[in-house]
Amino acid sequence: MISAYESLARLRTGNQRFVSDNRSQDTLATHARRLELTAGQAPFAVILGCSDSRVPVEIVFDQGLGDLFVIRVAGNIVAPSQIGSVEFAAEQFSTRLVVVLGHSRCGAIAATLEQLQRSTRSGSRNLNSIVNRIRPAVEELLNTDLRHNPVALMEQSVRANIRASANQLRHGSQLIEQLIQNDGLLVVGAEYSLETGLVDFFDGVPADNNQG
Ligand SMILES: [Zn+2]
Repeated sequence: MISAYESLARLRTGNQRFVSDNRSQDTLATHARRLELTAGQAPFAVILGCSDSRVPVEIVFDQGLGDLFVIRVAGNIVAPSQIGSVEFAAEQFSTRLVVVLGHSRCGAIAATLEQLQRSTRSGSRNLNSIVNRIRPAVEELLNTDLRHNPVALMEQSVRANIRASANQLRHGSQLIEQLIQNDGLLVVGAEYSLETGLVDFFDGVPADNNQG
């Protein structure tokens, strides 16, 4: 299995291909590739992304069958089943990079901010289980001047939620903590821009590896 840094480089170049409308032929889901993968998988990155239809993970990173182990849930939140999925991939396939991928204008974040600002508790119990996991990350931003600037509040909230999810994964289980300490597992946070198509890896990337 390749290192976390090689995986990161692969995601960055894939995203550049996507942004420049220059998608790789290799990532097309061919018949031959599908058959090859029946023998097993070796995904080089785990991505916890949002369910938003505008952020399909394989497409924005220009990857193909068998490349990415993807978990998608509204608001890219971390609950026990997400932690379990990361553990599974890291153990079974030795995947060493985990990316929490949030995005601009995330509806789950907007819904959480709306609930907090109106101090309503509407919505179903199930939907609230998502909002409740986003709330701690954004609640304190409402106590700052950001509350007078809805655009900036939204932008900062998206990032705060990504950071919170990445942190929850880093400390989500003993197994993950050990893999980070001893086996080169890296958990990073990234934001996809609906406007530009670019993914910005802004959280948890060691400085010497951060080239945008
Ligand atoms: Zn979203």
